[in-house]
Amino acid sequence: MTATLRRYGTVVPLVALVLAGAGVLVGARVIPAAGIPFLDKPAPTIALLAVAVGVAALASLAMVHVRVGSGTVGLAWGESAIVILCVLLPAAWIPAATLVGVGLARAIEWLRPPHRDEVSRSVWSTGVLTLAATAGTVAANLLMPTDGQRDLTPRLAVALCLAAAGYAVTGATMISWSVARRHGEAFWPVFLRANGSKLPMVIGNVAVGLAVVALIGMNARWLILLPPALWLLHRAYAYRMRLHDERRNWQTFADATRQLNRLDEKDAASAGIRGALRLFGGGRAQLSVIAPDGEVRGYRGETDGEVVACAPTPDEAPTVGRELVVGGVRVGDLHLWLAHTGGLRPRDRLMFAAYADALAAALHDAATHRELRSMIERSASDLARDPLTGLPNRSAFFSQGDALLRELPSDTPVALLLLDIDEFKDVNDTLGHGAGDELLRITASRLSAELPAGPASGSGTGELLARLDGDEFAVLLPALALVDGHPPELRGVDFPERLSYVMARARALAGGVATPSEVAGVQLSIEASVGVAVAAAGTVDLTELLRRASIAMYQAKRGGSSVAWYEPARDLVSTDRLSLLAEVREALAVDDQLTLAMQPAMRLHGGGVTGVEALVRWRHPRRGDLLPADFVTVVERSELLGEFTRYVLGRALAVAAAWAADGIDVPVAVNLSPRSLLDPTLPAAVAALLVQHDVPPERLVLEITETVVMSELAVIDDVLSALRDMGVRLAVDDFGTGYSSLTFLTRVTVDEVKIDRSFVRRMVESEEVAAIVRTTIELAQGLGLRVVAEGVETAEQRAALTVLGCTSAQGYFFHPPMPPERLRELLLVLDSAKIVNIRQEDAS
Ligand code: C2E
Ligand code: CA
Ligand code: CA
Repeated sequence: MTATLRRYGTVVPLVALVLAGAGVLVGARVIPAAGIPFLDKPAPTIALLAVAVGVAALASLAMVHVRVGSGTVGLAWGESAIVILCVLLPAAWIPAATLVGVGLARAIEWLRPPHRDEVSRSVWSTGVLTLAATAGTVAANLLMPTDGQRDLTPRLAVALCLAAAGYAVTGATMISWSVARRHGEAFWPVFLRANGSKLPMVIGNVAVGLAVVALIGMNARWLILLPPALWLLHRAYAYRMRLHDERRNWQTFADATRQLNRLDEKDAASAGIRGALRLFGGGRAQLSVIAPDGEVRGYRGETDGEVVACAPTPDEAPTVGRELVVGGVRVGDLHLWLAHTGGLRPRDRLMFAAYADALAAALHDAATHRELRSMIERSASDLARDPLTGLPNRSAFFSQGDALLRELPSDTPVALLLLDIDEFKDVNDTLGHGAGDELLRITASRLSAELPAGPASGSGTGELLARLDGDEFAVLLPALALVDGHPPELRGVDFPERLSYVMARARALAGGVATPSEVAGVQLSIEASVGVAVAAAGTVDLTELLRRASIAMYQAKRGGSSVAWYEPARDLVSTDRLSLLAEVREALAVDDQLTLAMQPAMRLHGGGVTGVEALVRWRHPRRGDLLPADFVTVVERSELLGEFTRYVLGRALAVAAAWAADGIDVPVAVNLSPRSLLDPTLPAAVAALLVQHDVPPERLVLEITETVVMSELAVIDDVLSALRDMGVRLAVDDFGTGYSSLTFLTRVTVDEVKIDRSFVRRMVESEEVAAIVRTTIELAQGLGLRVVAEGVETAEQRAALTVLGCTSAQGYFFHPPMPPERLRELLLVLDSAKIVNIRQEDAS
């Protein structure tokens, strides 16, 4: 038995009985004491009392049961009885007669199983009806005729109607109150629901009572006509109540099934259980749900309790149970234990089946939805992941990183490390994309290994590693305050200790990546540049942090060190490379932004110019004059490189052609990016430009530098030999700074070697450097190459170079780079000077 029924079983009936006793007492004592005239009836005979008790019992027995919620409300002929009793008995006897009559009726019912109630409920209803009878009696006394006559005068009729009203209102109020209380509902909705449809029957009951009174007054024998009429009325009542009940029930059913449409299994199960309890008067319901993966979960609920999880199989046999099946697939079981004894009515069985089907469909929908949701979540996490390396991608990095930054207390120092693989494009272009992918995967796993907790992201320290795009990886270090044990109140970006910690981490990352590895059968030693930006959380967002780190990263590439940190001072020129690239594209389209500065190389013995080098300049409309260091790296790494190279070559050849017209016949050197040598279309482009400007190939010198990757690749050999075959001359630039320079010289056929200015600068102080320069010059001359020393700034350097046998030099000591027009004038002067010199030589 459930808790509800137990509670109902003890307190309420007792209260009712006490109330009934009070009612009887009021009837017997208070009314007589008040000296109300209606009491002037003679004390009833035993026979009359028996008739009165019989009337009360009959009226209570002939009951139509109406279900309200999960309980039933009996609809009886009580109003008729009270009307009749008011005429038959003195007021003082009415409550007592009702008590006995109703009690008798309940006792008889107890013998008729279908409508058998619990004893407690019987006691309760007996008490309620007795009290109602008392109320009716008191109400009737307000108008009751004083003479005790029984003829149905209008006044008596009104008094009897008052009795019925008092009885009906009291009974209805108390019963509704108890129903509302039992189901935890508000009083008024229950009152209206239970009694709204009862009103016509109450009126009918009163009419019957008045008819009986009238018949008694006329001739009691006419009462013989009463039973058939009553029987007909009773049927009519029952029919009406059933119709009403039916309609309300299907409404409840529709409500309950609507409630089932929940997207979550637990919500659907809860609604299903609550609905079953409400619809079928259940005391307890249990639901087992079979998930698509075969797992079975149980839910149970009681009339007034929460729905909770439980074991999937019920522990006792239910009143009714049904398998929940959708499209032949079993999705669960519904079990119901009714609050009252006896099973479901046939119509309720149908409804239970329909309800179970609706619940099955709802559970199936919830499961489908769950599946769908997890699919969406999965694909969302797929979208956030870079498929190649399995690391979070750019958008995931931004969303997770920004969330991380927002979580941190403001002013907590954070760092962003941006790592970019050097020459990655070359690997991709020459070894193929498969090799590039492999290299990226290797890099990703090496970077992961450098994070404290190993796996890519979500490590305990909150460090976040992601592949942003191409060969760019980012690591966000959000917990610097914890890492080096400093409290977060050290503000600003000047955190020396932290910076050194971060730089050490950056070097470790670069070092981890640099370990040689075999990719596509080739042993590659890959280097990476790392840009570091440190800031206080709350002062920057991730976009800004990334911008700073990428400026630092370009600084690292430019400066030749593997790691650099962001310095605001550098920020004025450097900007993020995307906007810079867009500006380069613009500059290539107009004619006056990218210009050439030209610097002559001078003959050390005898004077004269051995060649001129074209150096690109950018007259930027907003940023002012920019040097190659400010933008060439960015261009080199973009798809604009080819166009840029052809543009510079075109300008340089145009200058050469113009000078030729003036009789100046001097080789013009143009710098090539190492990556240009990977471009198989370069020789054809150069040839076309030579034809276009009508410059003989031997007038063009292309300056190239050696790099690690370059030295081993066939495509470079092809490009270089095509250029050579054309008659173009080649020079090795920055000689001595590259990788195994001497080996390079023996492998690649060039015409000229340009000794890097770092040697020129140091050779005066260092014997060792002087020795290197001497060896280089000797080797070059042995190979038949011209040697040009770069960056000569002093007479001392020039003298030293002359002693070492160097033939040609370039530098500020002679002439700085200058606009072509100025160099033209200079060349014209030098030319005539040279002629003067030759004449002098001739003369001597
Ligand atoms: P580089 O080929 O070594 O060019 C010589 C650099 O040294 C020039 O710098 C020049 O202005 C500078 N210089 C000349 N004499 C002296 C001197 O006596 N002392 C010192 N300290 N420097 C001197 P610039 O013009 O800034 O060019 C820098 C680099 O940019 C060049 O180095 C070259 O590698 C690259 N570059 C220049 N123009 C182009 C271009 O059109 N295409 C490509 N791909 N690279 C270019
Ligand atoms: Ca050069
Ligand atoms: Ca150089």
